[in-house]
Amino acid sequence: MRFIVCIKQVPDTTSVKIDKRTGRLIREGIPTIINPEDKNALEAALSLKEKYEGEIIVISMGPPQADEALREALAMGADRAILLTDRAFAGADTMATAYSLGSAVKKIGEYDLILCGRQAIDGDTAQVGPQLAEFLKVPQITYVSELNIEENKVVAIQELEDKRVRWEASLPALLTITSEANKPRYPSAYGIMDAYREKEVETWEKKHLDIDEERIGLEGSPTSVKRIFSPEPKGKGEIIKEEPKESAEILFNRLRAKNII
Ligand SMILES: Cc1cc2nc3c(=O)[nH]c(=O)nc-3n(C[C@H](O)[C@H](O)[C@H](O)COP(=O)(O)OP(=O)(O)OC[C@H]3O[C@@H](n4cnc5c(N)ncnc54)[C@H](O)[C@@H]3O)c2cc1C
Repeated sequence: MRFIVCIKQVPDTTSVKIDKRTGRLIREGIPTIINPEDKNALEAALSLKEKYEGEIIVISMGPPQADEALREALAMGADRAILLTDRAFAGADTMATAYSLGSAVKKIGEYDLILCGRQAIDGDTAQVGPQLAEFLKVPQITYVSELNIEENKVVAIQELEDKRVRWEASLPALLTITSEANKPRYPSAYGIMDAYREKEVETWEKKHLDIDEERIGLEGSPTSVKRIFSPEPKGKGEIIKEEPKESAEILFNRLRAKNII
């Protein structure tokens, strides 16, 4: 079987800081990691490969330093790594990202399963996986916490807020994996040495892909961010500790004074 795992390199923090002047994320000086749920996606692929054999290809679109994230994925056990990197891809929104990744998947050729993380901790949209499936016209199952291959189809449990849904999809398919799915393995010392000495990260630029230039990068993005901001912290709450009847009266008077009721 052939598995493709989408890996995004993200800042190692959930409290990304924003430049108030430009409205852009401040990435300088922040260490980077593999997006946590992408590691769950890779772990899922590694477990399936242990059962059914095959090849795992990890793919990332990002700046040249995303090579580091792909090396870590190779050290965990991926067989092949591809980095899509070109100035022309920069500033992509989710649609342009999915289109560029999808064009690379088409160049790879045949595959059985694409695994993405459910959501990236920086962009946070959870849109790239579903958009990639749409572009490739393959079935998709999102928010997956369990998966297996049975008779040429994938069977997966989708973890929703109030219920669990069992889905089946024919192959090839795309799944987005949550952090509940597994505990990603640590790379072994040999894995790390291999990733840097024996294995290579292939670099694909725009010219290597059959791609419509009007659909990539900032120019090819149908959406643009107008403003990003962290909401100001709300004022401190107050607990009224009188007897219930008296508390209700105080609350009522306060709300009426503010013309809320
Ligand atoms: C409207 C809009 C405009 C934006 N404009 C800009 C901008 O001008 N400049 C800028 O720097 N950023 C911009 N971004 C952010 C950038 O587009 C996103 O970081 C990127 O498209 C991925 O979206 P996400 O982070 O929400 O990923 P999600 O959709 O949350 O990611 C889900 C999964 O998809 C896969 N995935 C996502 N991105 C990649 C990738 N690059 N490579 C491999 N796999 C991936 C991973 O498996 C990941 O777990 C914009 C985002 C939006 C929504």
